[in-house]
Amino acid sequence: MKKVTFFGILLLSMLWFPALKGQNKQMIPIEVQNAYKNGTRSFDGNPGPKYWENHARYRIQAKLLAAESSLEGTETVTYFNNSPDTLKMLTIRLYQDIFRKGAARAWSIDPDAVTQGVQIKYLKINGKEVKLPAGQYGYFFATNRYAKLPTPLLPGDSLVLEAGWKFKIAQKSANRMGNYGHGRFFIAYWYPQIAVYDDVSGWDKIEFNGITEFYNDFNDYDIKITTPPHYAVWATGHLENAADIYKKNIRKRLKEVAVSDKVMPVITQDDWNNNKVLKNKGENTWHFSASNVTDFSFAATPKYNWDASSVLVDSATGRRVRVDAIYPEGFKTFNKAALYAHKSVEFMSYQWPGYPYPYEHMTSFSNGTPNGGMETPMMANDGDPKDTISTANLVFHEISHSYFPFFMGTNEKKYAWMDEGWAAYLTGQFSAYLFPEYPYYQRYVKRFNTSSGREMEQPLMLPSNLFTDFNYYRVQAYTRSSLAYRFLRDAMGDVPFAKALHEYINRWHGKHPIPFDFFNTFSRSYGKSLMWFIKPWFFDRAYADQGIKKITNANQVVVENIGGLPMPVKVTCFYTDGSKKVFSKSPVVWQSGNRAVVIQADTSKVIKKIVLGASDIPDVDLSNNSLVK
Ligand SMILES: [Zn+2]
Repeated sequence: MKKVTFFGILLLSMLWFPALKGQNKQMIPIEVQNAYKNGTRSFDGNPGPKYWENHARYRIQAKLLAAESSLEGTETVTYFNNSPDTLKMLTIRLYQDIFRKGAARAWSIDPDAVTQGVQIKYLKINGKEVKLPAGQYGYFFATNRYAKLPTPLLPGDSLVLEAGWKFKIAQKSANRMGNYGHGRFFIAYWYPQIAVYDDVSGWDKIEFNGITEFYNDFNDYDIKITTPPHYAVWATGHLENAADIYKKNIRKRLKEVAVSDKVMPVITQDDWNNNKVLKNKGENTWHFSASNVTDFSFAATPKYNWDASSVLVDSATGRRVRVDAIYPEGFKTFNKAALYAHKSVEFMSYQWPGYPYPYEHMTSFSNGTPNGGMETPMMANDGDPKDTISTANLVFHEISHSYFPFFMGTNEKKYAWMDEGWAAYLTGQFSAYLFPEYPYYQRYVKRFNTSSGREMEQPLMLPSNLFTDFNYYRVQAYTRSSLAYRFLRDAMGDVPFAKALHEYINRWHGKHPIPFDFFNTFSRSYGKSLMWFIKPWFFDRAYADQGIKKITNANQVVVENIGGLPMPVKVTCFYTDGSKKVFSKSPVVWQSGNRAVVIQADTSKVIKKIVLGASDIPDVDLSNNSLVK
């Protein structure tokens, strides 16, 4: 067969993206062009024939020292180099160095929260002691360490890293994890971890600064956690030694829950008060395992309530998923969380994204802070919002991250919109389903109206880690992106959009898709290029502003797309006879790159007034949105 050259493929892809013509190559960063050239990714949006990713097995034994708010542990990591490259060094993440004196941070912290960071007691690679270089100063240096390998790691080979470590668990300025008082611990971003080495950028050297989030390989975990007396632990993966830990009545309820659609209590305050939970009165060691997941986290706390049910997520195989909420007595709304978590997993499995929830359980923990949440695989660290709608939306949002970024393995450090945007968009779907009166998207639209087109707003394709302004990071990660997904669905139609989303999930779950894989998969699945939509929403500085240009004598309303974002058009015509009519057009009306569209109003009537727009369509300038004749 004739060899297809890179430029041949590029030419084909340029034909595929007719809206871009010769500019296409300039839109693809050199690293991504090289990935196409090397065959690790394909122009049709599929993983390339030479796609690879690295893999590790973590065996960790950790001990929670609750009284001193510390965690100490030892770990053995077997790291497999599946890349075609010889690795001469490792990038090691010491996440809790974010609290280290002298570390650069995007968040300011309470001076009392400053620690010595992660104390490495020893670190060996293939049995040889390796010294980690200390932090450098004067440069943005936070949590990464670079270890020179005693001998290079060849393609197809593996190494063993062993380490002993200890760190203080943040009590003040908790960031995404921490000690929330009253013995409530949520532990994430905790163990020394080997960073991702991928086909696009090589080592991921982006620092953890408090804003940038997950980008991890799909690894296997075997974790033992020792806790003080009377503590229970919930974690990513499967509890291997439940029979050694829980008393019979708890194990019996877990069996009942595994087949129950109805939420039931697994552990109550009565159980704790009457010593009916844990077999052992002393310390316990909890043994968990998880395979092919992008991280491991756990909650450890005494006296929490545990409500649970299960959801049949896949009617074809009969697979059920346990769905938990854990919280202390007396929290405001979290006693409803198990119900909303159940509805969330059901909604995700059958409606949006409409793909069976991919893990064996989902546990939502409440730390008691008023707002906010943090996702990790199978475990969410939530607050305790004051009203149930906020709780339902929060619980859903964090669970939806199970798909993006965990199942899909996206790089949240560079492209936060590839997961937060989906989480924000899907939560809007769930919210509309459960609480049709709640103005979920309207709130996003309001936020976008005050940020769209402003100097600090940057295109979605600007890597997220380059943001230092948290507000505009949020506009990129959540606001613009969730609106883009919503209007893309309007443009494609429900069925083609769902089909493309499933195609994207099927192609890329368990891998590391980048934006181009998403764009190309959606365009291919749709059967037509979507670049007319993708370029202004994701690459450009186009903003939200439509305006009424004029009304012709033939009752034609000319609507201009001043800001250039392809959005739906909604025109309300008020006639002199007191009647009114609403005309709605999908964003497809902007497909040809035109800057204006014509809406034909009723010619048998006389127009009194025209109003353009709606509360769920952003628009930064409302002065051109109404016209009185
Ligand atoms: Zn989120």
